[in-house]
Formats: sequence, structure tokens, C-alpha cells
Amino acid sequence: MVETASASSKLQTGAKSVYIETFGCQMNKSDSEHMLGMLDELGYSKTENKKDADLMILNTCAIRENAEDKVYSHLGTWRKIKLARPGTMIAVGGCVAQDHGEEMLRRAPYVDVVFGTHNLHRLPDLLLQAQKSERSVVETFQELPDDLPDTPVVRLNDISAWVSIIYGCDYNCTYCIVPYVRGREKSRTAQAVFDEVMELAQSGYKEVTLLGQNVTAYGHDLEPKLHLGNLLEQLGSIEAIKRLRFLTGHPRDLNVGIIDAVKNVPSACEYFHIPIQAGDDRTLRRMARGYTVDFYRRQVDAIRSRIPDAAITTDLIVGFPGETEAEFMNTVNLVEEICFDLANTAAFSPRQHTPAANWGEQLPDHEKNERLRFLNSVVGEASHKCNKRYLGQTAEILVEGRSERSANRMMGRTRTNKIVNFEADHLPDRGESLIGRLIDIKVVAANAWALRGTLDLVCPGNDLENPVSLSHPSADSLRSASGCCSPVSGAGMPVPVVIDRICRD
Ligand code: SF4
Repeated sequence: MVETASASSKLQTGAKSVYIETFGCQMNKSDSEHMLGMLDELGYSKTENKKDADLMILNTCAIRENAEDKVYSHLGTWRKIKLARPGTMIAVGGCVAQDHGEEMLRRAPYVDVVFGTHNLHRLPDLLLQAQKSERSVVETFQELPDDLPDTPVVRLNDISAWVSIIYGCDYNCTYCIVPYVRGREKSRTAQAVFDEVMELAQSGYKEVTLLGQNVTAYGHDLEPKLHLGNLLEQLGSIEAIKRLRFLTGHPRDLNVGIIDAVKNVPSACEYFHIPIQAGDDRTLRRMARGYTVDFYRRQVDAIRSRIPDAAITTDLIVGFPGETEAEFMNTVNLVEEICFDLANTAAFSPRQHTPAANWGEQLPDHEKNERLRFLNSVVGEASHKCNKRYLGQTAEILVEGRSERSANRMMGRTRTNKIVNFEADHLPDRGESLIGRLIDIKVVAANAWALRGTLDLVCPGNDLENPVSLSHPSADSLRSASGCCSPVSGAGMPVPVVIDRICRD
């Protein structure tokens, strides 16, 4: 916590509220949780109503086309709130703030603080500076500080927690702004990550997702060098954490050590998100991705030969400048060949500061949209095919909450990150008490985007009742030793319970 203590005493003038809006990826969402953590120490509590907020923060993302327009249009609305409620402060962070810096004040002079992606820990002091001077403050760093500051955090998800393990990216894909706004790769020490995950375990979390722009590159810059597999092995010793995930990895940095760790560490989930971006070698070369389609195929083989049931998802860009119809079809064919569990698809959008934005041969929007529609239909078919493999099987899910589509259903995710919805209306508390629990679900239906299941039996281990306990055997270890819901009982031991019993608890 750098300099927050000094700011704390001066800035805290009674209960205040902060409204925060986050655009973009999980890294940004995780950053927002850290902003809230620092502000919590200053006496700010989070509000969902921006009109009542003493401080409004916009955490921006520069990935999508028109990202800047979206930011300034948002700020225009916030300006009206500030005019109606003088004294309200506005702070802007994230990738657009890092990119625009001072320029942001020229376009939105009513913003009080502009801070970048590398000086998030400075937010409390920057707010204080702005408050004291009654002038706007802009501060962006070119790189992260050598000693990565440890900032407090307020987690917005009670079920699953994000932990950043590496920042920045050393690649220079010709379409991507991330290296420009997030800088070079910098790994956190394994000890710092371990301590944070241990704290999460002690707070009752069962699932942790390790985050980075290129998480598979983790540890190459540490001394001694490590790789993500080594980190997974270390974190695997924290028994209360039942699920370890990681996002997002560059295919080139995925090594056998990482795959073997996923195979051998019980808590490491059999789920790999490895963006290929295109299924055509010329396009990959022009994207500067640093691998060929064949290399990627070998990576998929390496995963599937070791972990046959692993889910593999990817990202795809269509309509890259100069992409021919034949090259696009190579991508379509690769989706069918590999049969991805899911693919995030997007039409190419030129981003400022990236080489591909200035190339000729930009495809017209209607062509890109046409290709995107077609690719999405093929991706949907592949996903459906993958999901049908689950039919009739029993899968462990971590229950996250009520289904977004139906209030009568609850939803959770498998270890392979498949969404599973199940009827819960007949349960006494409509399934609420299952939130945060690992349960077994029988899969009875599958479409391209989700599975539907029915609940037969539940194995609520002691960890479900008492998540802090690290000394007891885990539900999972007993399950693998004796089979799900086999009669294991005794003081401090998991007791298998049929669902109607659970719901009376
Ligand atoms: S590897 Fe990912 S984050 Fe890095 S430059 Fe390429 S697309 Fe951007």
C-alpha cells in the first residue's frame, strides 16, 4: 500500500460514497476491485446510484472500436450529475486514460483526476491533490514501478475471486493496443500470489482465477525463473481452494509443464483459453502472432493427449486488413477441425497506435459483418457438438446464483467453465442456500451456449459449512477416495446429504 496511509487521514472526512463503472476485461474488473479497496480505507462505501455518489470513477478499456467515443459520451452524462451536485468528483482510469493523459482534460475539463494503468495505487493521493488544489490532476506512468505495490481490495464476487499474476504483454500483435497502454510483462512473485490466494481460502473462496494479459508467460522475468505450471503446483497445496483457473494465455507460451500441472494438480481446472485469432498462416504472420496454424494444432494435441476432456476456447478476429475469402475460410475450417468449446469472435476494428490500423486493404464493414455472422454460426455448431458430450453425465458445478434467463433456475459452472442451469423453484429456499457450493448435477440438455441439469444428490463437504477450515480433509479428496456421496461421516467430516435435507439446513 503505497502512500495510502498518509492520504487516508486527510481525505477521510466522514462517510462518502463511490460509484464505479468498469469497461472491458477481467483485468479491468480486478483493477476496479483494488480501487474500491483503497477507497474503502479512506471511508468510501460503494453505491450503485451515481446520482448520490461523492466520487464517480470510470475505469476505461481501449480494446473495442469507438472506445474513446463511449468514454467521452459517458463522461458527458456524468458532467450533468456533477453540475447538479457540486462537490462530486470524477476520476478516470484504465487504458483510455493511460493513452489520452492530458488530452482527456482538453475534452472533458470537468474531470478531477486522470490516472493510468501503471499508477493505480496512487489514486488516493491523486484524489487528495485534486481536492486540496481544487484543480484537475493528471498522472500516468510509462511503466509499472519496480516494486509492485500491494493494494487492498474489495471483492465484488463472493463466489469466485480474481488474482492478477502478471501485468502487461511483450508481444506486439499488429492490431492490439495492450502493449501500448499496459506496458511490458511483469510478474508478481510466487510468494505474493500464494499469500493472496491463501487469504482468499481463509475468507471462504473456493475458486480463484489467475489473471494476466498473457498469463502463460508468467514467471519468465522472475529470478529464479518460474512458469505457470510451477505456480499452479504451489497453489494446489491450498486445500480449501477447489478450483484454480487462468486467463488468458498466448499459445506460444503454453508449455507441457503447464499442461501437466493442470492434469496433476487436483484443483487446476481442465480449461484452456488460448486465442488463435485466425486459422490462416499468412494472416497470423501479418498479425505478428509468432506461430503457425500447425504449431497451434500441436498445442491442442498436447492438451488433448494428456487431458482428453479438457475444454479449449479461443478468440477469433475476422476481416483483418487484406484477409481474402479463402483465408477467412481457413479460419472457419479450423473451427470445425478443432471443434472449440467456445470462441469469442470479433470483426477487426482499427485501433489507434497499432500498425494494422494504418494499412490499406481495410475491408468494408458489411463484408466483415457478413463473415462474422457466418463464423458465429460455425462456432455455435462446434460449441453445441462439444456440449452434447456432457449429456447424461454427472458434472460437478460451483453454484454462482440465479440464472439470468429464468428466476426459477439457478446456475453454476463446471470445471470446464460450462454454464449449467437447473430448476430450483421446488426447493424450499428456491436454491439460494446452494450458492457458493459445489454440487453434482446430471446433465439432461445441451445447446451451444449452456447445459441444463437436474439435481440428484449433493455432497456438501465440511468445507461448505465451514469454509475456513483447512485442517479437515476436503470434500473432493474424500470424494475421490470413496466416491461421491458415499457414507463418510464423523466429527468434522463431510456428511453426504440428499437435496431435501440440504434445503432445510
Ligand atoms: S499477445 Fe494479446 S495482449 Fe499481447 S499484443 Fe498480442 S493480442 Fe495484445
